[in-house]
Amino acid sequence: MGYLDGFKVTFNRLFDERVTGDYPNQKRPKPERFHGRHVLNRYEDGMEKCIGCELCAGVCPAKCIYVRGADNRPDEPVSPGERFGYVYEINYLRCIHCDLCVEACPTEAITETKMFEFSFANRLDAIYTKDELLVDDDGRPKKQPWELWHEGDDLNTSGWMRATASAGRAAQEGRAEWSGELGYGVRAPEVGQSAALEASEAAESGTTGEEHD
Ligand code: SF4
Ligand code: SF4
Repeated sequence: MGYLDGFKVTFNRLFDERVTGDYPNQKRPKPERFHGRHVLNRYEDGMEKCIGCELCAGVCPAKCIYVRGADNRPDEPVSPGERFGYVYEINYLRCIHCDLCVEACPTEAITETKMFEFSFANRLDAIYTKDELLVDDDGRPKKQPWELWHEGDDLNTSGWMRATASAGRAAQEGRAEWSGELGYGVRAPEVGQSAALEASEAAESGTTGEEHD
């Protein structure tokens, strides 16, 4: 009797709407702050944002970032300021995509894309070098042969606010928090919090959010 009950459950589910898709040919849209593999960003003039400070390496709980800084040559600087990231490596056999490196970075140099599907043939491919992480001349990630990119995965890889950015507060909305970006310029600031705050105030006072607009 018990296993017949099981068949009944299965049969009843046959006509439910399917929740699975044709993966990997189709992928679900990803949230804006999705944590995929990293990029190293550049300013609009092409200079690198990384100043080799090693804060990302220090904060990384998985100890998977290795950075070495070097002095910029005055006649041929790589980044604005005194130092730049001379060596930069991330080991994706260790990375847990927690985003703490992004939070720690003082120059918005390191951010994460929405691409997370890798298929490494050897351990060295899993350790991304600075050349592989650095965005190209259009500000887009350099796609590696072992990565599965889908349309849109390489968009907005760098302009999204950190979770703890001050612009996350409604009172500080409307001010761009992210410096100019190669290929993107200065991003528009977020606006979601004010709308939510207004809606909640409207609900408390018995009016609707639309009446505020
Ligand atoms: S996302 Fe987290 S685990 Fe990965 S490199 Fe950054 S700090 Fe380390
Ligand atoms: S990515 Fe950011 S935190 Fe890491 S070394 Fe470069 S500037 Fe410093």
